[in-house]
Amino acid sequence: MKSILENRPALTTEVYKAAEVAGYLWQKGWAERNGGNITVNITEFIDDEIRQMEPISEVISIGAVLPHLKGCYFYCKGTNKRMRDLARWPMEHGSVIRILDDCASYVIIADQPVAPTSELPSHLMVHNDLIGKGSPYKASVHTHPIELIAMSHCKKFLEKDVITNLLWSMIPETKAFCPKGLGIIPYQLPSSLELAKGTLEQLQEYDVVMWEKHGVFAIDCDAMQAFDQIDVLNKSALIYIAAKNMGFEPDGMTKEQMKEMTVAFNLPK
Ligand SMILES: [Zn+2]
Repeated sequence: MKSILENRPALTTEVYKAAEVAGYLWQKGWAERNGGNITVNITEFIDDEIRQMEPISEVISIGAVLPHLKGCYFYCKGTNKRMRDLARWPMEHGSVIRILDDCASYVIIADQPVAPTSELPSHLMVHNDLIGKGSPYKASVHTHPIELIAMSHCKKFLEKDVITNLLWSMIPETKAFCPKGLGIIPYQLPSSLELAKGTLEQLQEYDVVMWEKHGVFAIDCDAMQAFDQIDVLNKSALIYIAAKNMGFEPDGMTKEQMKEMTVAFNLPK
C-alpha cells in the first residue's frame, strides 16, 4: 500500500522529526515500554488528494468539542506503541487523523488503522487552544525525563518558579533555550480531565510543564524544538544532581548574572 508520505517531502520531514525525537526519548531512558506521546499538527502540509482520502477507521469521538480544529490533520503516536519502534517505523506506530466538521470526532486516514494515544483528548485540547491564539506552535511532546521527575518528588521544588530559577541558574543556555521556565501541575490521575485542564492552564505561561511524579509536557513549533526545551531543562537537573553527588549544594548563577542573560538575549523573564 502507498504511504501518505510518498512524494510529500515536507510532510515526510515533519513526521520524521517526530520519529527522530522518539529515538532520542528512548535512548535517554525517558520512554520505557509505551511511555510518552507525540502529536503534530500537520494541516499546513495537507493537499487536496489527502482531503479526498477515504477514512480507514470508524468515526471516533474525541469527548470534547474543539471548534478551532475543524478540518485539521494530526500525526499521532499510536496507543500502546513504543517510542523505540516509532523511531524506525513512524507510520506503523503512529497514524494521521482528520478532525471532522463537528469538531468533536475524528477518523484515521493513513497509513494503517493505528489508534492514537490515549492522551489524544488532552493533546487536542492543547492544539485547539494554540490555534485559537494564533500560536505558531504545532507539536506537543509528553515524556518521562528521569531527573526532572525525581526533583518533582520534593515539595520545595513544586512551589511556583522555584525549580525554574534553580534549573536556569545551573547553566546559562537553559534560560536562553527554555526562556519561559517549567510550570508545575500537582499530581493528577494520568489521562484525567483535571490533568488536561491543569496542563492547558499552565501552558498559558510556560512552554514546558511538569506533571508531579509523572513527567513533562512540552509544546513548540515542531517536535524537535519541544524536545530541545525538555532536554536543556533535564541537563540542568543533571548538573544540579552531579553537584549534590559531589557533596555540595551548587552555588548557581547569581540573580545579577541571570538578569544579565535576560537583557543580553532579550528573554521574556
Ligand atoms: Zn506519561
